[in-house]
Amino acid sequence: MTLRLYNTLTGQLDALEPADGKALRMYACGPTVYDYGHIGNFRTFLEVDVLRRFLRLSGMVVRHVKNITDVDDKIIRNAAVAGVPIGEYTRQYVDAFFEDLESLRVERPETIARATEHIPQMVGLIEKLAAAGAAYKAEDGSWYFRLAAFPEYGKLSKKDLSGMEDGARVDVDEYEKDSARDFALWKAPKPGETSWETVIGSGRPGWHIECSAMAMEYLGETFDLHCGGEDLMFPHHENEIAQSETATHKPFARHWMHVRFLLVDGRKMSKSEGNFYTPRDLLLKGFKASAIRLALISVPYRHPLNFTFDSLTDASKAIDRLRTFRVRLAAGVFAAGEHPAMQEAAAKARQEYLEALANDLNTADAMAPVFELVRAANTAIDRGQFFAGDREAILPVLADFDAVFDVLEDRDAEPTRRAIEWAKATGRVSEVAPELLAAQSLSDEAIEALVAERTAAKKARNFARADAIRNELAEMGVILEDSRDGVRWKRK
Ligand code: AMP
Ligand code: ZN
Repeated sequence: MTLRLYNTLTGQLDALEPADGKALRMYACGPTVYDYGHIGNFRTFLEVDVLRRFLRLSGMVVRHVKNITDVDDKIIRNAAVAGVPIGEYTRQYVDAFFEDLESLRVERPETIARATEHIPQMVGLIEKLAAAGAAYKAEDGSWYFRLAAFPEYGKLSKKDLSGMEDGARVDVDEYEKDSARDFALWKAPKPGETSWETVIGSGRPGWHIECSAMAMEYLGETFDLHCGGEDLMFPHHENEIAQSETATHKPFARHWMHVRFLLVDGRKMSKSEGNFYTPRDLLLKGFKASAIRLALISVPYRHPLNFTFDSLTDASKAIDRLRTFRVRLAAGVFAAGEHPAMQEAAAKARQEYLEALANDLNTADAMAPVFELVRAANTAIDRGQFFAGDREAILPVLADFDAVFDVLEDRDAEPTRRAIEWAKATGRVSEVAPELLAAQSLSDEAIEALVAERTAAKKARNFARADAIRNELAEMGVILEDSRDGVRWKRK
C-alpha cells in the first residue's frame, strides 16, 4: 500500500516512492552524543522507526542512513572538563544510545554514519562550495557559507527571511531559532581544541555540513526522504539544502518529514529546560520498555504529544490486553470451521489498519480497529462462537500490527535488567523503584521454586499458603498468572 506522507517541502501529502524504483533512500538526523538521549529525542527516532517498518511491511526495500554527531561545541567542552579525548567521552553515550534503541525496539538503519569518520567528505564539499564562490574563509581560519549564494534559502520552512542579515555570521552548533545568517561550515580551533589538519586548514566541521556530506556519501546527490524533529527544519535542514544544492545544482532530498515535539506541560521536552526523562529514568521507575514505545508512537507524528505518566500506564494496560488475547488465541481449543461475522471483522480490521498507516502514518487510527477486533473476538470466544478458522483470520492482523508496533512479544525483562545494572554501575541505585530491586535479587530458579511450592500447596488444598506465596512474590515484583496450561510468572 502506497504511503502518502506529509512533505514539508511541498506542504501536502505526497506519495512516498523510491525514485529509482528499487530502494527508498532515506536519511534521518541522529543524536548529538554529549549526554544520554531523552524520550523527546526517542519520540523522533521511534516515529521514523514506524515509518521504515510500515514501508517494509508494504514490501519496500529501504536504505536508511542515520548519523551520529560525535563532535560539536558541547562535546568538546564536556570532554575538556572531563579531561579525556572526545572519542572517549562520546563512547559511553554512543553505547547508551544503541542500548536505548534496542530497549525501545527501534530497528537498526542500514547505515550508521559517524561525523568524525567522514571529515574528508565534508572538506571536499567545502572545497566545492569555495570553488563556486559560495564559501569563504574568515580571518580566524573558519569557513562560512555565503547565504546570498542561495536565493531559494527558506523554501523548506517557508520563513519570511526578508530581515535576513547577509554577511553576518554565526558559528555555534546550538539551534539558532530566528536568524538566518552566513553559517559556519568549518570552525578553526581555539587553543587546545580537538581539530583535524586538512587542505582547507585545521579545524573541525560545522554541524550542518556533516549531514549534507554523509547523506550524499551514502545516498547520492538526490535521494528520496530526509527526516528529523521539527526543530531541525530551520536552520539545520535549510542549511543542508543550501549547501548541498549549491554544490550539486540538483535537488537534495525530494521529501521532508518532520516529527512534532514531545511536550511536558505544553513546553518542548529538552535538556536545557530540565523537563526531561530518559528511557532509563522511566525503566527504573518500573515502566516497561514496551509501554514507553507504545506511548510514544500511539500519537501520530504530526501531532505534538504531551507526555504524562498516565499515558505509560494506559499503554501498559493496552499491551497486557493484546498479549493476553494472543495467549488466549494460541492456547485455546477451538472447533473447526469459521464464523462469517468474525471473518469479515478480521478482514475489515486489517484493511482499516493498513489504510490508516498509509494515510500519513496515522498510528492512532491504525490501533483502533485492531483493539476493536480483539474486543469482538474475546466476546465471541466467551460465547463459544469462535472457531479455528477465525483464529487463522486474526493471526495475520496481529502480525501486521506487530510488524510496526512491535509490542506483542514480552521482551520487557531485559531492558529493565540492563537499566538496573546501569544504575548500579553509575551510582544511581537510589533511583531504582524498590520492587524492581527486590525482584532482581530473586533468581529465576528461586521464583520457579516458589511457584512450584504454590502449585503443590494448591493441589493439597492449602489455599492460605498458596495465597501467601503469591503475595510474597508480588511484594518482590513478581506477578503470577494462572492459566489453563499452568502458571506463568513475570517480573514487574
Ligand atoms: P539532538 O540530539 O538534540 O540533535 O536531537 C536528536 C533528535 O531529537 C532531533 O531529530 C531532534 O529534532 C529531536 N528532538 C529533540 N527534542 C525533541 C522533542 N522534545 N520531541 C521530539 N523530538 C525531539
Ligand atoms: Zn542533520
